[in-house]
Amino acid sequence: MDLYEYQGKELFARAGIPVSEGRVAETPEQARAAAEELGGPVVVKAQVLSGGRGKAGGIKLADSPAEAEAHAADILGMDIRGHVVRRLWIEQASDIAKEYYLSVTFDRGEKKPLFMFTTQGGVDIEEVAAESPEALARLHVDPLVGFQPWQARRLCFAAGLEDPGEQKQVIAIVGKLYDAFVSYDAMLCEINPLIVTPAGEVKALDSKFTVDENALFRHPEVAEMRDVEAADPQEQLAREKGVTYVKLEGEIGILGNGAGLVMSTLDVIDQVGGRPANFCDLGGGGDAQGVVDALEVITSDAQVQSILFNIFGGITRCDEVARGILSALGQMAIEHPIVVRLDGTNAEEGRRMLTEASPANLHVEETMLSAAERVVELSGAR
Ligand code: GDP
Ligand code: MN
Repeated sequence: MDLYEYQGKELFARAGIPVSEGRVAETPEQARAAAEELGGPVVVKAQVLSGGRGKAGGIKLADSPAEAEAHAADILGMDIRGHVVRRLWIEQASDIAKEYYLSVTFDRGEKKPLFMFTTQGGVDIEEVAAESPEALARLHVDPLVGFQPWQARRLCFAAGLEDPGEQKQVIAIVGKLYDAFVSYDAMLCEINPLIVTPAGEVKALDSKFTVDENALFRHPEVAEMRDVEAADPQEQLAREKGVTYVKLEGEIGILGNGAGLVMSTLDVIDQVGGRPANFCDLGGGGDAQGVVDALEVITSDAQVQSILFNIFGGITRCDEVARGILSALGQMAIEHPIVVRLDGTNAEEGRRMLTEASPANLHVEETMLSAAERVVELSGAR
């Protein structure tokens, strides 16, 4: 789960990393009030889950509360790479002498957290990595030994940071960033830019903070930061119902059991000229409630024209899935044509149950290919 800049900064502040004081605003009036409270020049920053806000015009300096209000009116509602700005962060403006970059993330190849630090911050880090890789200091932390203070010194040294005052502050921030990374079960903590003010003070001007979804149960206060309004409504519904769901662009809703089977189903749909609207993975379950939940999520997507069930019975028995489908159809009204392909354990019995009950919109097919052809035909896509 990605956090907004202001949320990441709140976690930074809790970890003891210096950040500027600021306020959240959702209207131009609130932006003006925030600027008045903060006093002096402020920076008005779009809060969207996307980088490059500065380049897109989503970050503006304001010398007065009136100017902050005007900038807020411009930025609210702005579309930044498909993200509509509904919230702003109004922060005391900083004077910038230098812009550095510091991050910690996972290096899956090495199975270790990886720090990256460069004095060439403020720009895309990918650019630095591509154009002047020698300027990007990299350092792995052994998760069992934990972070050692000498590692922060080595990181500064490798990046060519020479000012003793800056070194001292950066070293402290590196240690605190590692603490934040570990204690919040983060996947990424990035500060770009990490600035040095003309007075020589080092602080985080931006934050990118990604936490591991699977560890959210350990951090209820972080889980609460999720912006439900910004989430896709189907994905939100799927999360509430505990269904694995991915939204795609076509017309055919897909339910399968097991990620591999679902992936192959997408390929076969494509092969016969159709386009998947989404897919749900029933996993090992095929009980009525699981099927009802998945169907509710799939049919709440207005793009869906027809639905394909592709089930391979292993531990899950096809007769159970058939029972689940029939009971789901009894519980909810679905007008879309549904094609079902059952194979594997008790497939014949499952198919017989469906054929005998024969709901009007249900079509049973024996192979994956014929089922894909049928469901594409029924979607009206060809
Ligand atoms: P991003 O574009 O989404 O990465 O947003 P950032 O928070 O990194 O801001 C982009 C740029 O805006 C920074 O690199 C700074 O150059 C500038 N900026 C942001 N806050 C301030 C500030 O308080 N003072 C000044 N002078 N510039 C700022
Ligand atoms: Mn940034």
